[in-house]
Amino acid sequence: MKIGFIGLGNMGAPMAANLAAAGHKVTGFDLVAPCPDGVAKAASAAACSAGKDVVITMLPNGAILRNVAAEIIPAMTAGAALVDCSTVDVESARAVAGLAIAAGLLAVDAPVSGGVGGATAGTLTFMAGGTDAAFAKAAALFEIMGQKAVHCGGSGAGQAAKICNNMILGATMIVTCEAFALADKLGLDRQKMFDVVSTSSGYSWSMNAYCPAPGIGPKSPADNGYKPGFATDLMLKDLRLSQQAAEAVDADTPLGAAATELYRRFVEDEDGKGRDFSAMLPRFEKRHRGD
Ligand code: NAD
Repeated sequence: MKIGFIGLGNMGAPMAANLAAAGHKVTGFDLVAPCPDGVAKAASAAACSAGKDVVITMLPNGAILRNVAAEIIPAMTAGAALVDCSTVDVESARAVAGLAIAAGLLAVDAPVSGGVGGATAGTLTFMAGGTDAAFAKAAALFEIMGQKAVHCGGSGAGQAAKICNNMILGATMIVTCEAFALADKLGLDRQKMFDVVSTSSGYSWSMNAYCPAPGIGPKSPADNGYKPGFATDLMLKDLRLSQQAAEAVDADTPLGAAATELYRRFVEDEDGKGRDFSAMLPRFEKRHRGD
């Protein structure tokens, strides 16, 4: 396929490189980042999109996505697919899909989980929203860039799945860290805590696969000085999107709201910025009840 790829940052560059390595003809565009090996550089987003079978975007947020979409949709060929893999608000995802469909294009919102490691290894999980025809057109590319793609429903369903998942992740990581800090003060050995919880009803991905306590469980950012991994600022972004969505549809999400506020404090008022989101554990270690 002829593919345009817009947004060649930490995630986009390795994803585009994997598509090129699989034999697709990939043209890229980014305001600042260089094109990875095998990807030809376009002079503008519109030039990157003209005459392509599929255009993929991997951009920072919904406002930027809307601007880029307004520029590229008129340049795209009827019947081509616009596949947005960024994590953005559900409203922007639906608005962009609406514009694309009105212009005779196929549209998929397909945010990912798996981080830079997954993007590089081609093992991302895609959560996709759009029509069956749109999903079918993108599916072969998801197979190259990832190991799993779930068609979640119509436009915006991929973003909805992503923010619900990450709201669970944020709240679960916080309570896992709280529990380790409580266990410390109760004199419970961390390894014993892990041995029990990881095989009991408190188990979770945060505990079992990404344990926030160094030296416990499988290797995780905690074993690397809490270098990300998945950075606190990205977790805060996704939690804010969950609260924006909850506000829009009048959903009561008290733990999601509390998790958002805690990560906001950690990133903006404390020393959490740039650290892995599991660094909530050293944060709790230093605190006392009522702090
Ligand atoms: P990044 O900041 O490294 O990359 C974004 C790229 O978009 C940058 O290179 C920037 O120059 C480019 N860009 C911005 N405006 C542009 C424009 N108008 N035209 C062309 N290029 C433009 O971010 P990232 O880590 O690659 O993340 C991209 C998206 O993926 C975000 O929505 C993020 O939430 C999501 N995501 C990231 C991760 C992760 O671990 N990094 C994991 C899952 C999802």
